[in-house]
Amino acid sequence: MKKEDCIFCKIANGEIPSATVYEDELFRGILDIAPAARGHVILLPKNHAADVFELPEEEAQRVFPAVKKIAAAVKQATGCAGVNILQNNGESAGQTVFHFHVHVIPREEEDTVKIGWKTGAYEGNSSSQMAERIREKL
Ligand code: 5GP
Ligand code: ZN
Repeated sequence: MKKEDCIFCKIANGEIPSATVYEDELFRGILDIAPAARGHVILLPKNHAADVFELPEEEAQRVFPAVKKIAAAVKQATGCAGVNILQNNGESAGQTVFHFHVHVIPREEEDTVKIGWKTGAYEGNSSSQMAERIREKL
């Protein structure tokens, strides 16, 4: 289902033209309008889901095979050294468009793309407690 005021619904369904690199019955892959690097692609489902938590099972199962194809094509087309596959959920995680999408970002050894975090550490047995808490919710 499409969401009336969602720009990615309109793009994914071809109501707004885009530089499309991939399309199947569930997804459209397009060039990001403000790319982190040349060849930066975003993959959008045609049905609206705000984020990974709303993504239906069928799309969830099909998204990575599509991302894998796109990543291989981006690598060959740009000649990049690597790619980041990135997917933001929620404002705190950097999401700015609230229609699920996956970024495929070409990378070079020395480029201007910044993706990172300061590493932390678990104390005592708190990593097993955290693992247990997560397992219980699956
Ligand atoms: P987010 O920050 O939500 O993970 O990523 C949103 C991405 O969508 C950004 O990289 C932004 O440049 C891209 N974007 C936003 N509006 C448009 C648009 O109208 N067309 C295209 N092709 N990309 C867009
Ligand atoms: Zn949408």
